Amino acid sequence: MIVKPRIRGFVCTTAHPTGCKASVDEQIAYVNSQADLSAEGLKNVLVLGCSAGYGLACRVVAAFGAGANTLGVSFERLPEGNRTATAGWYNNIAFEEAAATSGLYAKTLDGDAFADEMRQQVIQTIQAEMGKIDLVVYSLASPVRQHPKTGTLHRSAIKPLGEALDIKSIHVERGEVTQVNLEPATAEETADTVAVMGGEDWEFWMDALLDADVLAPGCQTVAFTYIGTQLTWPIYWEGTLGQAKLDLDRASRAITQKLAAVQGEARVAVLKAIVSQASAAIPVVPLYVALLFKVMKEQGNHEDIISHIYRMFATQLQQGATQRLDEEGRIRMDDVELSAAVQDEVQRRWPLVNTENLAELGDLEGFRQDFLKIFGFGFAGVDYGADVDPGLGRV
Ligand code: NAD
Repeated sequence: MIVKPRIRGFVCTTAHPTGCKASVDEQIAYVNSQADLSAEGLKNVLVLGCSAGYGLACRVVAAFGAGANTLGVSFERLPEGNRTATAGWYNNIAFEEAAATSGLYAKTLDGDAFADEMRQQVIQTIQAEMGKIDLVVYSLASPVRQHPKTGTLHRSAIKPLGEALDIKSIHVERGEVTQVNLEPATAEETADTVAVMGGEDWEFWMDALLDADVLAPGCQTVAFTYIGTQLTWPIYWEGTLGQAKLDLDRASRAITQKLAAVQGEARVAVLKAIVSQASAAIPVVPLYVALLFKVMKEQGNHEDIISHIYRMFATQLQQGATQRLDEEGRIRMDDVELSAAVQDEVQRRWPLVNTENLAELGDLEGFRQDFLKIFGFGFAGVDYGADVDPGLGRV
């Protein structure tokens, strides 16, 4: 069949198999063009949320930068009839094939990472096939979580706290700068968001791995957060998501205490804003990202997902690295995004931007291109008019 993008709001319901492979190959080529990383402390790597965004980039850097064996977990929709799979399903296959060609161990488990059964499956795989784990990357981003102990289905709500918020945003499809009005979250919605995106599940993972004695001495674990600036604080850091991310900081301290048993450490890393399935769904963020990308590209300091994550491994996670930590002990990778040169210019443009001057002040085109690339669309060298098998001969 011929696969075309089908966009519904902030999701694309189709994914291009060949395009997704091109996307993974492009990331691998980038890492191969960079200096090798020391394999010390990166021999066996577990990536939770391995099929997209920051998790996929971590897996690519660990494997192709440091030669790591990688075990990944992600939740995918399989292809069915003439319905394509999720991009992550194609990405995982492309990654595994490339790893096999390079003689690297790579296995992916498809299912709900919030479930205890998945934890058992991961532990059994590590014991049977890998040896102990040196690095656990926690990169899940999900709108829902079924709690493994209570069975409750928690649904996150991306909302401000306290008062209703009237704030500048963007309608990405129409290319219109708009004003949105967001009602504040109830206490229950806030608690649900913390249950989905907070640190409890990360703790459950590290407890289970520690109990099963599958963590190597000096094991590191890292989970990701975003802080940003006053432009996005009302909807992010000061909203329900910020509460969840504060809980991640709490979990990081609790996990570090437990990891003392293996001389290990947990860190939250503050990453830069990029376009992902998760971030495209947050109001306001796409407008901020459009301005940010334009400014960073003009200043020559823009980083895409893979170059950002390569820099994190090379400067922060490699053994012997002197980490750039803030007062909460978080690794700060948002140093360039938050530099005065970048922020002064983004903040100067923010009150000025409107639908008419958006293309001049912001990079909505770059946002749209990155969004389509998540689903395998827009890669040079891919023949999008060609017939493709959405099941890749497997399903
Ligand atoms: P993403 O949507 O690109 O990827 C999320 C991954 O989680 C996918 O592999 C998906 O399959 C997996 N996943 C979701 N639910 C799952 C489940 N129940 N079981 C197994 N796998 C599941 O997200 P992303 O933007 O890369 O976000 C990853 C982390 O990085 C999040 O904590 C996010 O807050 C953080 N972060 C993102 C940005 C940004 O701009 N996108 C910036 C800083 C920090």
